[in-house]
Amino acid sequence: MTYNYDWLDTECATLEQAGLLRHLRTVRSAPTGTINLDGRDVVLLGSNNYLGLSTHPKVIAAAVEATRSFGTGASGSRLISGNSELYTALETNLAEAKETEAALVFSSGYAANTSVIPVLAGEGDVILSDALNHASIIDGCRLSRATKQVYRHCDVEHLSALLSESAAFRRRLIVTDGVFSMDGDIAPLPDICEVAAQHDAMVLVDDAHGFGVLGKDGSGTVAHFGLEGRGIVQMGTLSKAVGALGGYIAGSHALIELLVNRARGFIFTTGLPPATLAAANAALDLMRSAPELRQRLFSHAKRLKTALIDLGYTLLPSETQILPVVLGNPQRATSVAEALLAEGVFAPAIRPPAVPTGTSRLRLTVMATHTEAEMQQAIAGFAAVFPKFR
Ligand code: PMP
Repeated sequence: MTYNYDWLDTECATLEQAGLLRHLRTVRSAPTGTINLDGRDVVLLGSNNYLGLSTHPKVIAAAVEATRSFGTGASGSRLISGNSELYTALETNLAEAKETEAALVFSSGYAANTSVIPVLAGEGDVILSDALNHASIIDGCRLSRATKQVYRHCDVEHLSALLSESAAFRRRLIVTDGVFSMDGDIAPLPDICEVAAQHDAMVLVDDAHGFGVLGKDGSGTVAHFGLEGRGIVQMGTLSKAVGALGGYIAGSHALIELLVNRARGFIFTTGLPPATLAAANAALDLMRSAPELRQRLFSHAKRLKTALIDLGYTLLPSETQILPVVLGNPQRATSVAEALLAEGVFAPAIRPPAVPTGTSRLRLTVMATHTEAEMQQAIAGFAAVFPKFR
């Protein structure tokens, strides 16, 4: 007897009817300003390789050299099979960039969030989480078994009200994206830190999209607000502006030591490949000494935003390189994305559950390495498409 899997087709059909079925597209090039997508060269407005470092010759050379010296795989978990010196170098560099005592690298940002949250909070504790936090934070909260309370997006008064009623819990943890991944706005960290201090709460910031982009030397959202040294636990990824792969937690020696001993996404998985560690370290050096890349990134973001608003598009009030063009229902977002693709512009449609129902959108991201011609092509594509969807 075989089990009947017909329900899988039914589920996919239901997703399709709601405009929520996703398909993978084939890329045959590096994620530079133009990529080859399904066989066509198109301008890329959907990459998190914000500074273009994933194709930098120094970064590639570091990855090649590490592969020659150490091979392609880590061969085991860091605690059991030995900890590569490449990890030590990278973590030292990260802690220095973040101005924290120590840092610990995980296999991904997803693993970092789902690991650190259950270490910081458990049964009997409460987590206060922004309504628009990333899915990896949501999953980390679920794994922790702590009570979760969601505060309205960036609403510190709401957060403060919830904290006022939290005295019965053992510990309090506030968790927020630094730069919100789908909206591009920045969390009000100074106010969050103030209410955290009033209520004796810990603060964890997911800086996946602020790292490399905001603050002195691109060190992130905490530095953007001058809040270094305030005990904020900083999470980030090496997969976006750093152009490699991996997540990290930066904080005190005690926190890192406890993570090494308790974080399940650290303990029960294989270490990152040597090439990835060396690439991340080389990219980190470049990132910290390249203010001109950040200037170009922000100048491109401003230019695209102004052009789209002039054309009549509705954008959320982002302050960063992430520009959300809100279109409403998923079908409309997909249709506009397809029309743009026909014009040679890849602007991915983002639909629920990645964003709240009714707010399907194009999530545009610029890169420091976009050329003038690519910027012009992108804007021309939006101009051609607008009359069809107004
Ligand atoms: N946090 C945020 C805010 C993100 O946008 C992402 C990636 N989409 C992650 C965490 C997960 O990072 P990674 O891709 O390195 O797993």
